[in-house]
Amino acid sequence: MIKKDNILISKFIGNTPLRRCDALSTRYHTNIFIKEEFHNPGMSAKDRPALFMIKDAIAKNKIKPGGIFVEASSGNTGLGITLIAKKLGYCAKIFVSQSCSQEKIDLLTKAGAYIEICENSNGLHDFNSTQFRAQSFASDHPNAYFTNQYYNSQNIRAHYKTTGPEIWEQTEGNITHFIAGIGTGGTISGTGRFLKEQHSKIKVWGVEPRGSILSHFLQHRTLPDQTVAFDQIEGIGRNFIPGSFDAAYIDHIFQVDYQETKHIANEYYTQTGFTAGFSSAAVLASLERYRDRIPLTKTDIVVLFFPDHGSRYMSKLYNERVHHPSPLQTSDHFNF
Ligand code: PMP
Repeated sequence: MIKKDNILISKFIGNTPLRRCDALSTRYHTNIFIKEEFHNPGMSAKDRPALFMIKDAIAKNKIKPGGIFVEASSGNTGLGITLIAKKLGYCAKIFVSQSCSQEKIDLLTKAGAYIEICENSNGLHDFNSTQFRAQSFASDHPNAYFTNQYYNSQNIRAHYKTTGPEIWEQTEGNITHFIAGIGTGGTISGTGRFLKEQHSKIKVWGVEPRGSILSHFLQHRTLPDQTVAFDQIEGIGRNFIPGSFDAAYIDHIFQVDYQETKHIANEYYTQTGFTAGFSSAAVLASLERYRDRIPLTKTDIVVLFFPDHGSRYMSKLYNERVHHPSPLQTSDHFNF
């Protein structure tokens, strides 16, 4: 029974489309493709690691039938875990931070997750974090298993085994740049590793919110003396170094801020009719902000990773009632 369901679920996760974006390609004088992860059943890239972590836990007998999968998540991994767990006859308990959008909480609730909202997602050392509370819950409940995406090797492996090979095949081995937001680091580390193993010259660039510490760590291999609150861009940004972040396969990390991310998301929608998710818009903002410093050519093949969809952030990102003026003033900005 489980075997059959597993095959069914696996069949629908991954193999997402790669779409050329003409408007962006024209704007940046190169070839821009978007890896559209919202085609996954849970409508995000995080279905991939969720499936790998669950399959691994079941295969290694870490959880008994009917047990509870526990995860700390900005929402997307939690939804993937919940959908897959329920399908296989397990329960899901998901700890999300209070910055999680209402849309994601609604989806988790409808999917049947038991949800707990925590103060932050600052990592295991913080009592009020999603990670600490998830770990405590799992140790207090004998048949609960904490998938722990921040330290589970299956997170990187999922992207190494699926996302990387898909992009390589879809670009017929011609990809020159891969750009993705960084949260746990699983996407960029797994995909980056696969791509660099095919061709070491492929550039792998990360994006994080202003104030997050991963770009500092990549440059100096130390933590900054002081950490500051980072801009709230859902799904990305960290003030600790997750085990699933592997700096070895990342060339550079760009920082963007909340306002420019929100602004570009709205401009992109107006100009193209597509709603980018929060962290997808951050990737767009990085291209815009650093366009003069990024040496892209007409023959480059640039893949932007869009982990989810703008419909998940209507109340935050596309709600003009909470609109912030753009810090960028030049007239041709964002004229897709
Ligand atoms: N964007 C979104 C919307 C996410 O949910 C996540 C996962 N937290 C990321 C980006 C970052 O992906 P990763 O955890 O693989 O670094």
